[in-house]
Amino acid sequence: MAVKIYDLSQGNPRLTENLLASEFRSPGETIVKMEEKIPIHIQALKDDVSGYWGRRVKAITINAGHRTPAYNASVGGAKNSPHLPGQAADFYFTDEATGRAMPSIYILCAAQLRGVLGIERIRDGLSVHIDEGFRSKPWWTYQAVNANGAFVYNPVADFFNTSWARTEGITVPSGFRPVVPKAPDGWVKRLQIVINITKPLPKLAEDNAPGPRTLAACPILRKGAEGAIVSLIQERIGTVVTNKWDEYVDDKFYEWQVANSSYVGKADRICGPMCWKRLLGLS
Ligand SMILES: [Zn+2]
Repeated sequence: MAVKIYDLSQGNPRLTENLLASEFRSPGETIVKMEEKIPIHIQALKDDVSGYWGRRVKAITINAGHRTPAYNASVGGAKNSPHLPGQAADFYFTDEATGRAMPSIYILCAAQLRGVLGIERIRDGLSVHIDEGFRSKPWWTYQAVNANGAFVYNPVADFFNTSWARTEGITVPSGFRPVVPKAPDGWVKRLQIVINITKPLPKLAEDNAPGPRTLAACPILRKGAEGAIVSLIQERIGTVVTNKWDEYVDDKFYEWQVANSSYVGKADRICGPMCWKRLLGLS
């Protein structure tokens, strides 16, 4: 993925199902620079908020995309803003049910689950800034209003912690399960690779970002199972990695289910959808 340059005098290409190149232009400009990943992320986030929380998106509005230095200065943008090289966009979703802008917390959470590198909550509580290709490690901010009406800064990751949300008086979206245990580096990607080898088409994106498609592709496993996917479970629950789901691993898996019963339900020694959701860090 890289920054693409579009000349609007030559046409206005459709970048994704719902997004045109012109939506990312600096006001009045015909040359638009935009990192390919940005419209792809925004389009995918539209499906994610619907998949995770049933919030259907009626419209996507891009408030800012590429900015020329003059325009960036006129809006008080940072001197090293990722909007300058066309590696960022600010946007909001119009909620189909309410006809109004959807609270950005849904988009922030979905963007983090998707693995977007730069995420910032914009102060209006409705718009989100995302950037890609600009930084080397994740940068997530979550600016929220606490019970006293004061602004507080926290990494988006902290939002997933219920006690934090409670302390700050933040309403957790219904259907959202806070506290996402962090998977080891690359674990989700290795799982996606293993699933792609063992399952027929369509292939999963091997992007290390857990989502509804990866979850749906995880097989139901129990004692007697073997192979690379078993070793991934063993790694995730912190037991010996042997490739085989034997008696010993079965007891360890049972202990893990009991410890996580508020997320995975009854401890039944079967790795089904609720267990996978937890293993993927989605609950
Ligand atoms: Zn921005």
